[in-house]
Amino acid sequence: MSEGQKQSVAVVGAGLAGTSAALGFVDLGYDVTIYSDKDRDALRNKVPPTGVGVLFGASRDWDAKIIEDLYEIGNTTGISVRLKSGSGDERADVLEFNPDFGYVAQAVDLRLRGDDRLGRFLERGGKLEVGEVDDDRLDAIAASHDLTLVATGKRGLADVFPIDDARTHYREPQRKLLQATLQGVGDGPEVFDYRSREGGKHAVFNLDAENGEIYVGPFHHKDIGLSWSFIVFAKPDGEWAAKIDGATDNASARQVLVDIFREYFPNDAPVVEKLQVIDADPYSWLKGAVTPTVRKAVSTTKNGHVVAAIGDTAIAVDPVAGQGAQGSLIQVADLLAAAKDHEGEFTAEWLSAQFEKYWESRGKAAVEVTRLYLGDPDYADHLELSFPAASVNSDVASALFGLLSDPNPLLTLETRDDVLGFIGAVAGEPADDVLAKFEPAGQFSSAAVA
Ligand SMILES: Cc1cc2nc3c(=O)[nH]c(=O)nc-3n(C[C@H](O)[C@H](O)[C@H](O)COP(=O)(O)OP(=O)(O)OC[C@H]3O[C@@H](n4cnc5c(N)ncnc54)[C@H](O)[C@@H]3O)c2cc1C
Repeated sequence: MSEGQKQSVAVVGAGLAGTSAALGFVDLGYDVTIYSDKDRDALRNKVPPTGVGVLFGASRDWDAKIIEDLYEIGNTTGISVRLKSGSGDERADVLEFNPDFGYVAQAVDLRLRGDDRLGRFLERGGKLEVGEVDDDRLDAIAASHDLTLVATGKRGLADVFPIDDARTHYREPQRKLLQATLQGVGDGPEVFDYRSREGGKHAVFNLDAENGEIYVGPFHHKDIGLSWSFIVFAKPDGEWAAKIDGATDNASARQVLVDIFREYFPNDAPVVEKLQVIDADPYSWLKGAVTPTVRKAVSTTKNGHVVAAIGDTAIAVDPVAGQGAQGSLIQVADLLAAAKDHEGEFTAEWLSAQFEKYWESRGKAAVEVTRLYLGDPDYADHLELSFPAASVNSDVASALFGLLSDPNPLLTLETRDDVLGFIGAVAGEPADDVLAKFEPAGQFSSAAVA
């Protein structure tokens, strides 16, 4: 680069991570090109959103460093949690709780978030080149830019970055996933009012000990605005996994949801039955699975040019703890802040140091809180103690869901005694006293009456 010339940045992939990084580097004064396999219209209108992308609290502060907050719909302030187990006559309501998060969670269509970023990026002089990037093209791109970021998601060019075996706990997906967005119900206090007096201001999280989990929450759809987003996290050996196979379009995805609710959570079924597909958006559903994977986020192309991974390309987590989009934004915002103060080349050493900082400050905790919510056996004590404690103490419940906003406190809870100490500290009384109050629900209460 000759003196006075702007440093150039290439961003491959225009999902949330790519558009966020591209906008941020343009705003720092770099000459930025996005290389995307899809044009702007296709990114917004011809693909499903990669996920629901709820930003649980703290990550919104990092996002605000990239773009102003443009959205008012899709905000929740807490979550109504219910756990059931067993089947047939043995099926039982086990526990419930309904904490305030203590923060605002925001669920906005990732296609809209991406398009808003892309629009600003183009207005501010960024360039978009459309065409799939393969290994040869990546090599050429990296040769002609000062910094090349790869943001092609879980697949794409992810294999350029070797899997980090020491940080990757699973070799296969832990849940089969079905995501769908439906319309026709508001987010006022009357929605789900039998679960929570906050109604539609609290999301819904249903757990089934044998079959998996279901998240339901108000959502800002890119075209119609207020809608409701669903994610079924089906355990591979549970009964829901086969049901997900029946989803082939948005109508059958809705039907799978209705069927699951009628059979497993009948109290909620009347609300779900009222919700309808968004005809104008045939891409408002998604099914699949994520193999949770951490990669070595700095690599080289075949001719030795340095490339760095961001977003899901670097760390892909199962969405059960909602960490993927959040982590992507934090990784990008921290990289931008470091680049602002950086002089000289973007060497492999510098880029690796940035990733290590991100891993220590968020990435590792995001991976671990996901393992907690997946019910990994390493967290058996944590789950056995924290869910009953949460059901009898709202501060413990808030702390449990506070981990979605900041998962780092989990890293301090290594032993059963650590967890008991944490429960005691949060509840303000000995953990044993808290846990002694727990009795299985028997039957869920009516929050409206309570
Ligand atoms: C069901 C589900 C629910 C989720 N819910 C949440 C949540 O509540 N909270 C949260 O924080 N996270 C959530 N996530 C995770 C979140 O959606 C992802 O972490 C995030 O969207 C990843 O963004 P990305 O930009 O890294 O990847 P992507 O969105 O996958 O973007 C990659 C882009 O690169 C393009 N591309 C691919 N290959 C090439 C190529 N060779 N050349 C050029 N372009 C290419 C793709 O077309 C795409 O546009 C969820 C995920 C799922 C599956």
